[in-house]
Order: sequence, then C-alpha cells, then structure tokens
Amino acid sequence: MTFADIKGNGQAVEVLRSMADGERVPHAMLLYENPHSGGMALINAFLQYLFCEHRHDGDSCGSCPSCVQIAKWIHPDVNVVFPVNSGGIIKGDHPVSEGGMQAFRELFVSNPYFSETELYSALKIENKSGNISVHEAKSILSKLSQTSVSGGYKVVVMFLPEKMNIQAANKMLKIVEEPPEKTLFLMLTYSPEDVLTTIVSRCQGLRVLPADRSLFVPALPAENVRDIWKDMFTALIGRDLAAALECGERAAALPSRDLQKEFCVYASESLRKHFLNARGMEDIAYIKEELLCTDSRLPGSFYLQAVPLLDKAALHIGRNVSSRMVFADLVDRLFILKR
Ligand SMILES: [Zn+2]
Repeated sequence: MTFADIKGNGQAVEVLRSMADGERVPHAMLLYENPHSGGMALINAFLQYLFCEHRHDGDSCGSCPSCVQIAKWIHPDVNVVFPVNSGGIIKGDHPVSEGGMQAFRELFVSNPYFSETELYSALKIENKSGNISVHEAKSILSKLSQTSVSGGYKVVVMFLPEKMNIQAANKMLKIVEEPPEKTLFLMLTYSPEDVLTTIVSRCQGLRVLPADRSLFVPALPAENVRDIWKDMFTALIGRDLAAALECGERAAALPSRDLQKEFCVYASESLRKHFLNARGMEDIAYIKEELLCTDSRLPGSFYLQAVPLLDKAALHIGRNVSSRMVFADLVDRLFILKR
C-alpha cells in the first residue's frame, strides 16, 4: 500500500514519513489501535515507503520490486508474527505464524482493516484465541540472525504483542533491548497495558486512530456522565468515601440504563488514559480531554483491578439489577482497591 491508500491518520503518516526521510527510524515502535482502525495497513504503507527504490512526492512508487513484494507481504526481509494455535490450519505441536502466512496475506489483500477476530476466522481458530509462544520467539531470533536479503532493514511486524506469553516476551525482550543493527520491530496492539512494561519502555509509541472516526468513535458522553465520573474519580483519589458514594447515587439516578452503562464505559476509558499517561505513554493514550489528575497516584494495579469492576457493573446494569445496588457496590469495591 502507499501512504495515499491510507484512510485518515494523516498525523501518523506524517510522523512515519518524516522518520524515514530523516533516517531517524527507531528500532522498535508500538502502534496502538482499536480494532478496524487499519494499523496493519499503515505499517504496510510505512514499510513500502522505507524499502521503495523510487520514492517520490513523499510516497512509495507502488511498482518497484520492493513495493510489489511488501504490498503482498512476501518481502524476504519482512517477517510477520501473529497469535496462532494448533486448532486451525496450522498443524503441529508448536504452531508458528509462518504456517498461517498464506491466510494472513489473503486476508490483508481482501481487507487491510481486518481485526483479531477476522484473523482467527481466516486461520480457522474462531473458537479459541491464539497466542505468541516461545517457539515463535525462537523462530524470530533465528530469522533476525540471518543477513538481510535487500541489504537494508530486517523487520519483524508483530500483531498483538499482548498475546506473547511470559517466556516468549522475555525471549523477545533481549533482542528488543539490544537489536542487531538495521533491525526494526513494528508492533501493533489493542491493549498496550497488557504488553510487558519492559518491552513497552523500549518502543516509541504511536496512536492509530479509527479511519473513519464517525463510524467507530462513539459521540462524547452526555455532560452529566462526565461530571459524575470526574467527581467520583476525585473523591476516590482523595479517599472521601461519602463523596464517592454520593456520586454512585448520581450515576444510579441517570435517566436510562443505557446512560448508566455509558458511565461505566466512559469511566473505564478514562482510567486507561490515566494509566497510559502515568507510564509515559501520552502518544499512545491520545489524550485530548483534560486529565482528571496529572500526578501518578494511580498505579497499574488500580487500573487493572478497576476496569473489570466497571465491566461487571455495566453487565449487571444490562441485566436489570438494581442500579442503586450496582453503583453502591462498585464504589465500595473501587474504594478498597490497593493503591
Ligand atoms: Zn517502490
């Protein structure tokens, strides 16, 4: 793909183009997107630009041998890794992405904006999620130890690094920390908070926005939802249980169950932003609204425990459990989380 083929994301394209132009490509990048935003399309366009033999007007030519190979994901210096398991088209005890590459290529060509679910469907493992195993990590290390065919970069594109198990992540960490020259890691994640912190800290972050924001980004929640969450968050941070419970009452009094659910979704997204911000990942958090607090009194453990509580509250609201009970219980549980 060329940059011109990318829908939206003008800012991300600009960042990637100027990295290549200025020969300031970091050795590891972590792109963060919500499903269907086209992060893989952006990665493909970036690689095409990086390898193109006849770049012009700020874009790749689209027709030189490198461009053609990258567009089809068959360039010998570009390795792709994604979560797999042995239930689908990849057989053997230690399944690795290579066995599913053909399916990956066909999926990308037919739909460059594919999601994790669509990949699993292409690999015929719909019923069980995939993972990135230590065997995959070993295979990557072995590929990176070979010399580059084109004489330029050797690239590892990893879709969903959060699916690496701990052994795989530790194995990868060593090479991400001290990569051989001209090695480039491009990782695309749906949930940066689940990627090993030591890997994240080695990567430059880049937020990929939905291609068509009106299709994928819900409208800003009603003013009162935001206000209630702001007050509840402030009360929780300030250790004021009475004030926090009062906010719970206000949330329970929101006029519809849909709005009450929206409150939970909004609160969880807000916590995610604070968490990423506290970890120095402002680029990835894409914080447009003012943060509710800018100090880092919210360690990761709070976020990781609070989000499932908010999800559960949303579920109970959807099941017609008494809103007052749900929100009182939610506030109690948020209040006692370790911070
Ligand atoms: Zn080209």
